[in-house]
Amino acid sequence: MPERSPEQRRSSFDEVAFGYSADEALAEANRCLQCPNPTCQQGCPVNIDIREFIGAIIEGDLTRGVSVLKERNALPAVCGRVCPQEEQCEASCVLAKKGEPVAIGRLERFLGDTDLACELDHRCVPEVAAPSGMRCAVVGSGPAGLACAGELAKLGHGVTIFESLHAPGGVLTYGIPEFRLPKAIVAAEIEMLSSVGVEIVTDTVVGQLTTVPELLGEEGFDAVFVGSGAGLPVFMGIPGENFNGVFSANEFLTRVNLMRAYEFPSKADTPVARGRKVAVIGGGNVAMDAARTALRLGAEEVFLVYRRTQDEMPARKEEVHHAKEEGVEFKMLCSPAEIVGRDGFVTGIVANRMELSEPDESGRRAPVCVLGADFSIECDTVIIAVGTRPNPLLKAAAPGIELSRRGYVLTDEEGATNLPGVFSGGDIVTGSATVILAMGAGKTSARAMDRWLRERATS
Ligand SMILES: Cc1cc2nc3c(=O)[nH]c(=O)nc-3n(C[C@H](O)[C@H](O)[C@H](O)COP(=O)(O)OP(=O)(O)OC[C@H]3O[C@@H](n4cnc5c(N)ncnc54)[C@H](O)[C@@H]3O)c2cc1C
Ligand code: SF4
Repeated sequence: MPERSPEQRRSSFDEVAFGYSADEALAEANRCLQCPNPTCQQGCPVNIDIREFIGAIIEGDLTRGVSVLKERNALPAVCGRVCPQEEQCEASCVLAKKGEPVAIGRLERFLGDTDLACELDHRCVPEVAAPSGMRCAVVGSGPAGLACAGELAKLGHGVTIFESLHAPGGVLTYGIPEFRLPKAIVAAEIEMLSSVGVEIVTDTVVGQLTTVPELLGEEGFDAVFVGSGAGLPVFMGIPGENFNGVFSANEFLTRVNLMRAYEFPSKADTPVARGRKVAVIGGGNVAMDAARTALRLGAEEVFLVYRRTQDEMPARKEEVHHAKEEGVEFKMLCSPAEIVGRDGFVTGIVANRMELSEPDESGRRAPVCVLGADFSIECDTVIIAVGTRPNPLLKAAAPGIELSRRGYVLTDEEGATNLPGVFSGGDIVTGSATVILAMGAGKTSARAMDRWLRERATS
């Protein structure tokens, strides 16, 4: 797929990949073998009829292609961009065995973008069942909450989403940067939900302004879905984390993406520190996004500090490739022991050199410290991207909800919690996962909520 050159990208928040033209999409779709037993579909967590939507592109019937996609996935332009296709649908494509699977994600993006290019009233809108007269509340407007809300609305229920931030979308809006996922795309896909009757109330923290029992009581909702994500940053607990210039990736990315700090001061009010030498700690998509964002804010050098090797990095390969092309320097097998500073500001990191142990029973090789091999990295900014946890506010939001030892909501396979009428899904149940898994969980819960509501109404 055509994309901007690394030189252009380094200083621009514009999207990296341009997307397929109609001719390119047709050429790629024609590579599909239209297998009688399409294994790719089994690789998709929401079971999209991939053969069918690619067949529609081959026949030139893009409207049908979009509607096949939307039967299973309300956010195709988003998923086509950020799904880890290489581990899911594309990994299960029979052509993967020969080395080059059909670019399913890119074709999905092509159809999603084709739909969004139409005026709202010409887009593919799902059918909505007759009104049930029942109302559901959804806490959080990330992929889990959005998918749950969309499905409940299709099933005929009234739905209101309560979101703590001033814009809906969860990580799609505040976490994943503009150059990977333009916010106009997220907003346009969310706009579709209003056409099936979903109401979104922003700036409302459930647990402070209202609670789940109040939603089910005086506010008159019949069931609640909690999709509040796991956005509380984790720090490393090493000395020096309080110096000025140390950020959690969450704060850094939220300032830049949601508050558009990269346009400060001309078009946005929120500033962000622009480091000259930036060290990002971690090896996942979040670390990669933070490193590439720091480069675009004008950093001269950006280091990625990770305690294993590149082979063990959890980030998508495409993101690693893009980060390297743009000039992010990878410092592998090193683990920060201390952040050092002067006059309250960061001046560098002292790190331990690591090596990998022999594989354990699960095949995983643990990083082990090499004694006496400490070294220093000079930097003025440190961004910590080593994971997140659920926000403890959840206990105030839903008193009595059963949580795991680590603070995640415990549910059955369909998202039912221990509280009657309260369901949950997405990162708040599984821990940090993927957009499509969160959406899948939201849809599963919506169907279980629908059954619960209808059984209660007839009992
Ligand atoms: C920087 C970054 C990059 C990522 N890149 C990818 C990627 O490339 N591909 C991929 O598949 N996945 C990626 N992920 C993971 C993916 O985004 C998450 O797994 C997914 O967003 C989880 O969805 P969710 O709906 O459970 O939670 P979230 O997206 O976290 O949404 C939860 C929402 O609930 C709101 N909320 C929380 N508490 C309350 C409350 N008390 N009251 C009201 N609202 C509340 C939050 O403000 C938020 O909007 C990335 C994650 C991050 C952080
Ligand atoms: S939703 Fe994700 S896994 Fe499913 S077909 Fe689309 S890109 Fe593949």
